Amino acid sequence: MKNKFIAGNWKMNNTAEDTEALLTALIPLVKDTKNRVAVCVPYTDICLARKLLKGTNIELGAQNVHWADYGAFTGEISAEMLAEKGVKCVIIGHSERRGYFGETNQTVNMRLKAALAKGFTPIVCIGESLEQRQNGETEDFLAQQIKEGFEGLTAEQAVRVVVAYEPIWAIGTGVTATKEQAQETIAFARSKFAEAFGKETAERIYFLYGGSMNEKNAKELLGMPDIDGGLIGGASLVAEKFAKIVEAF
Ligand code: PEP
Repeated sequence: MKNKFIAGNWKMNNTAEDTEALLTALIPLVKDTKNRVAVCVPYTDICLARKLLKGTNIELGAQNVHWADYGAFTGEISAEMLAEKGVKCVIIGHSERRGYFGETNQTVNMRLKAALAKGFTPIVCIGESLEQRQNGETEDFLAQQIKEGFEGLTAEQAVRVVVAYEPIWAIGTGVTATKEQAQETIAFARSKFAEAFGKETAERIYFLYGGSMNEKNAKELLGMPDIDGGLIGGASLVAEKFAKIVEAF
């Protein structure tokens, strides 16, 4: 089994004061972990977080990236700008971006290619709605997200991507997928990557589960064979909770 990758998604939370308090508390709690740890912070916290995380084992991440290097794209941030600020990983295609801001598999694909070109670890989110799950459409929907979102990647690029399976019905709701549901769906997603990029590549790709993972359910989810880590929203805002997830497995 691989070491786990635990990434926090702070979403639109944390002022400078909050960031300082949270990271100051978190750094000593996770300093001895064997697992890989990242925090994906709002753009406004990047410079401060970089300063606080210098010399620690916590990677700095962002929550989105634009596909162009520069230009007339009001409100967007380029890979070059993020790289200059020490960002190492970036979330792409979160369901909140897809649902509230019109993100599509095509824009995910463009952002993904820009992130790879800059040497980031992209954390690409996929996941179905409750309605799709209830209608038995989960696999078809995920297959489409994978086909279009990862279009044109080489196996060498695919292996550098982290895929976060985040069922929309489990995000921020307190309803977690069961460990069997998460395992089964991630195994299906991995099989799609095996078809596209070969079995060996697919096995090396990190698959995270995200959706109300917390310090209580992390151990059983992370113990499943295809779950290589977690993308953590709410629980990443509390140092002690996030640290317990990092140390859960
Ligand atoms: C997320 O937004 O990526 C997430 C998993 O959120 P939460 O843990 O709060 O469900």
